[in-house]
Amino acid sequence: MPGPRSSTKSNLPRLSPSRINTFLGCPMKYRFQYVDSIPKLPVEVALRGNFTHRILELLLQRPAQQRTTDAARSAFDQAQKEFLNDDEFRLLALDPDATEAFWEAAREAVRAYYRIEHPQDADIVALEKWVSARLGDFEIGGYIDRLERDKGRLVVSDYKGAVPKRPEYATDNFRQLMLYALMCQVQLEQTPHEVRVYYLGGGRDEYPRNRRVVSREVTPEALDEVRTAARQVFDDLNAATASGEFATKVQKLCDWCDYQRWCPAHGGDPSVAHAESSVAVNIRRKAVGLAPLA
Ligand code: SF4
Repeated sequence: MPGPRSSTKSNLPRLSPSRINTFLGCPMKYRFQYVDSIPKLPVEVALRGNFTHRILELLLQRPAQQRTTDAARSAFDQAQKEFLNDDEFRLLALDPDATEAFWEAAREAVRAYYRIEHPQDADIVALEKWVSARLGDFEIGGYIDRLERDKGRLVVSDYKGAVPKRPEYATDNFRQLMLYALMCQVQLEQTPHEVRVYYLGGGRDEYPRNRRVVSREVTPEALDEVRTAARQVFDDLNAATASGEFATKVQKLCDWCDYQRWCPAHGGDPSVAHAESSVAVNIRRKAVGLAPLA
């Protein structure tokens, strides 16, 4: 999605926190997504989250005193221009009413953000910052959405478009952020004090601030736990790649899995996924005036 990004180069195999979470969630899903690279149509709710991220990134990258209401409006306008020209957004093929609902949902998420903090109060260290860490014969790497200071202490944080989750149900979110905290410790030689999720879903007034902000302290034990999880995923992924056997993990979330129709655990055939999905994606691409996939 829009927004400049760069990363350091390394010849080591690399896992991102989201790949680690995907593999832990279901190895077969990992295979569909990252090994077979099955093309898929964008999901509206995910793009809405990206859109909100972009608005807040544009707003918060200004010096604190310049993060005014006008600046928030112009961040929205710039993000909107970028998205209207973005292939993923065009592939949603939203009609005018649905397009307006898309923008309005993002406005509501930004209003929810203002319930959490005023942007002028945010002590931003970096946004969309690339970090990585070598863990033996592979590395982990990715972009931190937001690195900030709270009362002088470093905090790794991220926005989620979902409605607030209780901390005990936010395991995946915390694992992802704790991996970033580990990368900060290695690359920046600074150990964050806390990881934090800002939930922006639901109506602005539906949740109080303390439900929307969920955090966990960074401890040596928590860092060890994610380091061990990353190493285990790396080993299990190598074993699955060598054998060609990616296990299925049937769960409630299967009903929201993009690959369920080709999943062997649901009677599907993975070998036809690429061809069938390419046809569906190309039909949509043609309908919105985009060239077919190569
Ligand atoms: S449908 Fe369920 S078991 Fe199959 S790939 Fe998706 S998450 Fe895994």
